[in-house]
Order: sequence, then structure tokens, then C-alpha cells
Amino acid sequence: MMDEIDNHAIILLDRQGYIETWNKGAEKIKGYQAGEIINQNFRIFYTEADRQAGLPSQLLAEAATAGKVYHEGWRLRKDGSRFWGAVTIVASYNEQDVLIGFAKITRDLTERIEAETTIKLHAQNLESQNKELEQFVYIASHDLQEPLLNVSNFVELLQLEYGDKLDETAEMYLGVINHCTHRMRDLIKDLLDYSRIGRRKALVPVDCQHLVDTVKEDLATQLRQTGAVIQCGALPTVNAYAIELRQLLQNLISNAIKFTPADRKPVVTISARLHDHHWQFTVADNGIGIDPSHSEKIFKIFQRLNDRDAYEGNGIGLAHGKKIVELHGGALWVESTPGQGSRFVFTIPVHTL
Ligand code: ADP
Repeated sequence: MMDEIDNHAIILLDRQGYIETWNKGAEKIKGYQAGEIINQNFRIFYTEADRQAGLPSQLLAEAATAGKVYHEGWRLRKDGSRFWGAVTIVASYNEQDVLIGFAKITRDLTERIEAETTIKLHAQNLESQNKELEQFVYIASHDLQEPLLNVSNFVELLQLEYGDKLDETAEMYLGVINHCTHRMRDLIKDLLDYSRIGRRKALVPVDCQHLVDTVKEDLATQLRQTGAVIQCGALPTVNAYAIELRQLLQNLISNAIKFTPADRKPVVTISARLHDHHWQFTVADNGIGIDPSHSEKIFKIFQRLNDRDAYEGNGIGLAHGKKIVELHGGALWVESTPGQGSRFVFTIPVHTL
């Protein structure tokens, strides 16, 4: 039976670790034929460093005292290449309880360990690239503010000191410069805010019902001006990043109202449903809707589908939203029927604090 098993090396060792039997699995994993390995010491499979450190005899000693020992590490094949071995050594005794040798079972886990190492490396790379990118956005937007401030200051000086010498056209030009610098300032502020998301990392219980009430207070002017109705089902308390979650809800509700045609009364419906491991929230509106071909694009930074004259905005709210939801380990997406409305859906995992 031992001989037929070819995915495990199963061998018997004497008390000193000299090899007594050899199966097909051992031949496949370690590369030696039975004839050339029997009577050699099993130390041969260990790296020079492990041999120097006395690992083979340590393992035998441990197996002899405890009955068995488990160990994982790099081992050597006949051709000198390495494999990751998962090794169990079991002590064997005669009827008088005297140690007579060991049975040793080895599995080759090289593929698993290499896959784990690759995943770990990718994760580390990704994390450091993300940090670099955030740092870059932060520094770039921070440094952009300074020259912009100079432009604004000098436009102000021009208007103050030369105002009476300027004709209407020059005034108009200055007005355009002013407008553009303001827009630029807003964009830079948005970028800075974006790079700051996730710096505060404390999950706290957030009562979403209460959160919607505070968002409604913040949006009071928009609600009054549009006559929008907010319908809200029972919402849970979730463990979340409070400020960010509020920002997300505020943006989704405000968009829902904003992207409804002026001749239609906006109706926004907020609901939440518990799934196995997460809460699924929906913010639905009866607005202009979104063509499904744009359902990815709208979550990218500074991407907008509508003219700024028709609907104001910078195109960063949903990019913020996506980052916030992902920070919680959830997902954000949109479902929509163009002309009839959109449903923004996001999930928040049920975190334990
Ligand atoms: P902004 O609202 O500043 O334009 P967002 O990132 O919040 O930026 O949204 C990006 C774009 O997605 C919007 O410009 C709009 O075209 C579209 N959009 C967002 N929310 C809705 C909605 N509720 N209904 C229809 N379109 C929407």
C-alpha cells in the first residue's frame, strides 16, 4: 500500500535516522531511486544550514519523546533543487516499549507556499503603491494651492488698484479668471479630501436612522427648494467609520435629488436589508437615471455624464463614495432605468468591534 501512494513520501528510518524503506511517493518528491538512498541518513534531505543547526536530530529526539513531531520547511531533492516539505515523524516502539525507529511522511507543498508567497508579495506591493499614490495626491494638491492663491491675490490687487482704469472687457476677463480659480480651488480641496479618506481608522457603532436625520438637516435648503421627499425604512446600527458613512449617504441623497428633472418632485427611498455577512443599503430615486454603459465610469474621479450648466458638481462624490465603501470592505454599484430613476446600492460587512 505504501508503495502505491505516490503523492506522499512514506519511509521508515532506524533509530539514528538511516533510511530503511522507500516508496514511489518518496522517489517522485525527492528524486532518488530506492537502491541509491536506502541506508543513507535522512539528513541528506536537509539544507546545509538546517544540518549545521542540527534540525534532523532535533526532530528525531522530539519524536522519540513526544511520540511524533510535525515540521514544515525547505528540503533538498537529489538534483539540489528545493521543495517545501510538510513532514510528520512518528516514533515506533517494540513490545517492550523500546524505540526501534521512525515512520516519516512528507508532502510536497511547494506550489502552495509559492502561491502564498506570490499573493503576499502582491499585497505588499499594492499597499505600498497605494500609499505612494495617496502621498502623491496629497502633496500635489497641497502644492497646487500656493500658486493658485497667488493668482487670486493678484487678481484682487488688479481690481483694487486698477479697477477704475479697466474697461468692461478687462473686468469680464478678470471675472472669468476669478471663476476659474474658484473652481480650481474646489477641485484641489476635493482631491485633498479624497486622499484623506481612510486616515481615521476607528470603527464605531453608527445609528443609520439618526445619520439620515442629520443628513436631512444638512440638506434642508436643497430639500426645501426642490420639495423632495425622503422615504426611509427601518435602518440598522452598523459598525462603521462614522464621518465617512455620513459623507457617503449625504452624497447619494444629494445626487438623488439633484439628478431629478426640475418638473418632477424628487422621491428618495432609503432602505437596508441584512444578508448573511453584510448589510445591503439602497438609495433609490425617480430621477434622470443612468445609461448602463456608464455604470462604471461614474465612480471614477472627476467623471460626469451631464453638462455643468444643467447639473452642477465636480464629479468626485461617487469616487469618494466608492473609496469609503471599500474602506469598510464592502461594494458600491448602481442599477438604473434611464429616464425613470437610479438605485445606488452599497454593502457594509457586519464587522465585530
Ligand atoms: P457630481 O454629482 O459632482 O457630478 P458624482 O461623482 O457624485 O459627481 O457623480 C458623477 C456623475 O454620476 C454625475 O455627474 C451624474 O452624471 C451621475 N450621477 C450620480 N448620481 C446620479 C443619480 N442619482 N442619478 C443620475 N445620475 C447620477
